[in-house]
Amino acid sequence: MPLDIESMSGLKPEYISEISSLARGIFESDAQNREHLIEKLIREVSPRLDDEKLSEDFLAAVAVFFDTAFTYISSRKIQRYNDLYQFLRIINHLPILEHSSFYNQTVELLKPYFEKDAGYTKLFDRLQLLYLYSEIGDGDAAMRLADELSAQVNPDQLFFYVMFQLSKTNIFSARGDIESKIRLLLDLVTRVWDEGRPEATLFLMTNWMFSLPWFKASKYYKVLLSNLYCKICAEECLNTAKVGYELFLLDDKQVPPTQKMLYYQDLIKFHETILNSRQLHSLHFFAGNYLSGFQEQFHDSIRSFKASNYFLHKCWQRLIEISAYLRAHSEPKDYKLSMRYVEAKFMRLSNQTSLRNNSYVENLQMNFQKIEELYREVGELSLTDQLSGQRNRRFMDNNLMPILALAARHNDPVCFSIIDIDVFKTVNDEYGHVAGDYILKSLGEMLSKSFRQSDVIVRYGGDEFLVVLFNTDPLHCEEMMESFRRKVEQRVFEHEQKQIQITVSIGAYCENFPGNVKLKDLNYYINMADVALYKAKEAGRNTVFVRI
Ligand code: GH3
Ligand code: MG
Repeated sequence: MPLDIESMSGLKPEYISEISSLARGIFESDAQNREHLIEKLIREVSPRLDDEKLSEDFLAAVAVFFDTAFTYISSRKIQRYNDLYQFLRIINHLPILEHSSFYNQTVELLKPYFEKDAGYTKLFDRLQLLYLYSEIGDGDAAMRLADELSAQVNPDQLFFYVMFQLSKTNIFSARGDIESKIRLLLDLVTRVWDEGRPEATLFLMTNWMFSLPWFKASKYYKVLLSNLYCKICAEECLNTAKVGYELFLLDDKQVPPTQKMLYYQDLIKFHETILNSRQLHSLHFFAGNYLSGFQEQFHDSIRSFKASNYFLHKCWQRLIEISAYLRAHSEPKDYKLSMRYVEAKFMRLSNQTSLRNNSYVENLQMNFQKIEELYREVGELSLTDQLSGQRNRRFMDNNLMPILALAARHNDPVCFSIIDIDVFKTVNDEYGHVAGDYILKSLGEMLSKSFRQSDVIVRYGGDEFLVVLFNTDPLHCEEMMESFRRKVEQRVFEHEQKQIQITVSIGAYCENFPGNVKLKDLNYYINMADVALYKAKEAGRNTVFVRI
């Protein structure tokens, strides 16, 4: 459902309908009647053009003008994908050198001119030069060349005329001569329109729209772009790509990143020569940034960053080509002057590159931190027994000896206890394996609560836990184990409405690590505890037996 700018703005309805009917009228009427409509439109808008910061209201009116024009133009498709439209696509990639990928296509499109008169080849070169001067911002050189060429270009040679006039709009823009720019563009778009080339007209109109300072009225701009995109998104053509790209570039507040990624998905389906290298560089860079925010799309973000770097390289290449073109087609003294502007472009690109590289590195860093955290989590998981939540034997094998060595060096007593559930097999047999699992899980929780965090608890076997108490003497160990034994004996485990009670037998071995005793292999201490456990079982189970 298209939004309408009229209802969003605070403009008077009469004013809006005036602008709308002028916009429609300009395209509907013939050249003669059009002239006074254009004058009227300029009269309507010119008092506001003096205002340096165009007001929100004024931009709303401009949005109404474009919206009406777009509706009108896109509803009257007469001739699609015509030669002029192809030519405009080429202009997006100037300069055309002999090795350029667009060279053959350019020669093919301009063949009727080139075959008629050899002078047109020279004219095309001069117009390319003019276009490049105006693009790099060398206004003086552009103006001089435009004056020189004005006698040679006329509206009958439509391709050359469009190139010439587009360069002049750049010159007017740079000079802030808005009224001349409007007159020129209205003249140009209506001429192209009268030639029966709606796609090319739309191209010129959208280019004009992109060049306006919308930042104060970005909400209207968004509606304008969205409305147009709805009308043309089914076509995979230059206009669609350009409008989609503008929507992608809008502020995140206007178009949230998830929505932008939908435009991105549309845009990357286009052939890579539809947008130019600068646009593709930005497109992939920002897409990479958005994607890297989603952990699961990290791979895609790297792919986008790579694509962005590839097109960055193309941007540099294009600047080098511009410089080569200027050198080949202008006087040395003019070349020297215009190189200052090219150098400024180089500097801007390098500045932008370094800023983007920083942001890229920050993203990598952020993702790297995420990966490190994941590694830590995975590491933790691989050292933990899933069922009981206690340490597993891998943890014991890798980590226990260094802690014991530390205790030995400080002559701290250490107690090794093995806690084994009595006749656990019968519990499984009687209540089922799931109930048995529940008991192991609960026992794991009881162990965590009963001992210090600095003690080590390992699920050693099926129903056996190894508890290593540090800085604990045998007497203390016996008290703690006895207390734990009692706690288990008294606990009633409830599982699926069944009440289950168990007992445990505990065997413990305490090592004092006196002055010169050498640290033994871990198995030695565990075996000693195991022998004690055997004694406890032998003594009738539900017992604690401590060996010193
Ligand atoms: P006792 O120790 O008193 O001599 O008798 P017991 O029945 O506990 O004997 P034993 O140590 O030979 O058997 C241990 C039993 O623990 C065998 C197995 O059925 C049970 N078991 C081992 N691991 C698991 C487990 O992950 N889940 C469940 N439910 N049972 C387990
Ligand atoms: Mg047992």
